[in-house]
Amino acid sequence: MKQIGVAIIVFGLVFAMRPAAATRTTLDVYFIDVEGGQSTLIVTPAGETLLVDTGFPGDGRFASIPGDPKQARDANRILAAARAAGVTRIDNLLTTHFHADHDGGVVELSQLMPIRTFIDHESPDPQAEAGVAGTMAAFDRYAAIRAKGRHLAPKPGERIPLKGVEVTVVSSASATLQKPLAGAGAANPACAAVASEAQEKIENPRSTGVLLRFGRFRFLDVGDLSGGPLFNLVCPKNLIGTADVYLVAHHGGVDAAVPATFAALLPRVAIVNNGPAKGGAQELLAALRVAPGLEDGWQLHKASAAGAQNVADDRIANLDESGAHWITLSAHDDGSFSVTNGRTGVTKLYPRR
Ligand SMILES: [Zn+2]
Repeated sequence: MKQIGVAIIVFGLVFAMRPAAATRTTLDVYFIDVEGGQSTLIVTPAGETLLVDTGFPGDGRFASIPGDPKQARDANRILAAARAAGVTRIDNLLTTHFHADHDGGVVELSQLMPIRTFIDHESPDPQAEAGVAGTMAAFDRYAAIRAKGRHLAPKPGERIPLKGVEVTVVSSASATLQKPLAGAGAANPACAAVASEAQEKIENPRSTGVLLRFGRFRFLDVGDLSGGPLFNLVCPKNLIGTADVYLVAHHGGVDAAVPATFAALLPRVAIVNNGPAKGGAQELLAALRVAPGLEDGWQLHKASAAGAQNVADDRIANLDESGAHWITLSAHDDGSFSVTNGRTGVTKLYPRR
């Protein structure tokens, strides 16, 4: 009797740790609020995880030093998302580029959850420190954690190995796709004569970007890609094709307000991972209003600048600094998906078309 009791308790614990694994059929994405950095948790139907970036270190500044993981702002927000998704480890961590709003949370997160495979573009440009102070120290801390796991540095056109989901690298270390992805390659009439300038010209344009395909569903995340490499992906030819959901480059900064990207990708939904005063530029929010085919923009934060053309409040996860709500996305292989505002709990459906 006692043994049966123990067996039931053990079975119950194992089951409780994997609430959705047995029945998962959707691709789930958590756009985690890291206050104007990036951290995006992707959980495949097979229960594998791909985390794109780890937000800021410590108390959330570029200059913060990682400390007690229990106190770390962004690492704990990532852990909360993982728990909500019913996952206990990061199988793949993609670090888009080496700035502390993207690689800073890794030291503390690695003490809260196991991280297996590290994916990146090897190292920052030697000049990166001149672009953003503290970049090299943050990279050294990241590299020390990376050394404990498996490391991949895929080039544009190569895949990140995930079961049931196709993740193709489109940009890395300033290089971009050499030839169009299947079905892409049309001339893009919306292209300007030259690329718009990147706000930060050294490490952002080196971002590792990925196109994720799950059946008919397509999602593009290019980190802080900007300037020439962002332009080269969609001009003069569109090398990517369309994306149902586009996580707008560089937190929706002014250098992401490139009409040719929206004309090429024709996203149904654009998500802006901005902070109250970081990203979410007036020019970008204005560009969303005229983006062809766009059904909705969503923002992680209400942009605080006077006159900012924010999307409607019900598509903004954080109206002020009183919480840290995420946006979640759940996609089916027929291309349909839904987006949920973590603050209101309200879900909007985007049916198959
Ligand atoms: Zn950034």
